[in-house]
Amino acid sequence: MSDTILVTGGAGFIGSHTCVALAAAGYNPLVLDNLCNSDLRVLDRLERITGQRPGWIEGDVRDRALLDRVFAEHRMAGVIHFAGLKAVGDSVADPLGYYDNNVNGTWVLAQAMEAAGVQTLVFSSSATVYGDPDRSPIPEHAPCRPANPYGRSKRIVEETLGDWQAARPGWRVALLRYFNPVGAHESGLIGEHPQGRPNNLMPFVCQVAVGMHDRLMVHGNDYPTPDGTGVRDYVHVMDLAEGHVAALRQLQKAPGLLTLNLGAGSGLSVLQVVQAFERASGRAIAYEVGPRRPGDVPAYWADPSLAERVLGWKARRGLDAMCADSWRWQQGNPNGYA
Ligand code: NAD
Ligand code: UDP
Repeated sequence: MSDTILVTGGAGFIGSHTCVALAAAGYNPLVLDNLCNSDLRVLDRLERITGQRPGWIEGDVRDRALLDRVFAEHRMAGVIHFAGLKAVGDSVADPLGYYDNNVNGTWVLAQAMEAAGVQTLVFSSSATVYGDPDRSPIPEHAPCRPANPYGRSKRIVEETLGDWQAARPGWRVALLRYFNPVGAHESGLIGEHPQGRPNNLMPFVCQVAVGMHDRLMVHGNDYPTPDGTGVRDYVHVMDLAEGHVAALRQLQKAPGLLTLNLGAGSGLSVLQVVQAFERASGRAIAYEVGPRRPGDVPAYWADPSLAERVLGWKARRGLDAMCADSWRWQQGNPNGYA
């Protein structure tokens, strides 16, 4: 029988794509999500893609009684923990809400796992734990200086899960630091559907392409980068999803603590993304250059070589695939799953 993996936040953007990768690798995903930033209809799409409907539990990771029931009813081989809030601006406005969801949520989950004897955990961390790095590419041993409550919530979880794994050496924990996830499953059936006006570059570009906004605002072109615009490490969400499966497999081989960057290992500017999206979509993307966005770092990208050595994983899909897949999803689903 295939291993069941609890996927918290599995109805969301990265979690839903990871359900596809898990099913492809022979695992049996069981999604737990409170739907605060996702849509239940994603399950229909997952069934269409994989031929198998993931298990479903509606609920909150902070609900210890619910978790105890879930672990009692299902024999779980491990947990991939995506459930969390991710908007930097909201975290500045409501830090305690963010710490409660992201930090307390993870602690409640880990305690429920321990009580149930489930000791394999993959955690969604973020490159935001590095803050403004001294240099790129960023290796995992670079200093962590998160610059906002969201980033600090991720770093606190990393440190406390590290303490926990040291105290319980039988545990198997992977802290995966994602760089900038973009793209969508190549079927165009699942993808990212931000609520309200997107903050992130790729969803905004997609919405300009379909006419929801008349132009993109480029946040500054006076950075010390080749074309002056901000540089980031964009990684295709399906590559990221496969990285989770690789991490899970590695943890199943041996107990321990893994801290790994998941990124493509190269930086792309805002204008490079815009140009690639124009090629992929055949649409012109109007843009205007505005001031720098407060808090933005000029440029950073990952050193992903440790993930390649430890997991045998590296990002395979390039910028053209990221744009083509984002565009296919956007065109086919202008209102998300509605
Ligand atoms: P998402 O919002 O699409 O997915 C998160 C899911 O978790 C949603 O379905 C939401 O309904 C659910 N959720 C939130 N709080 C919950 C709770 N308390 N109980 C149960 N479910 C809850 O976001 P995503 O982009 O898929 O991100 C997944 C994880 O990866 C998050 O932890 C995020 O911080 C992290 N991450 C995301 C990015 C990114 O750019 N997308 C980058 C680095 C790290
Ligand atoms: N960006 C932009 N216009 C937008 C959104 C983003 O110019 O409407 C830029 C942003 O300044 C950064 C890059 O695109 O240089 C990636 O931003 P995003 O918000 O997607 O990711 P993050 O800043 O979290 O890395």
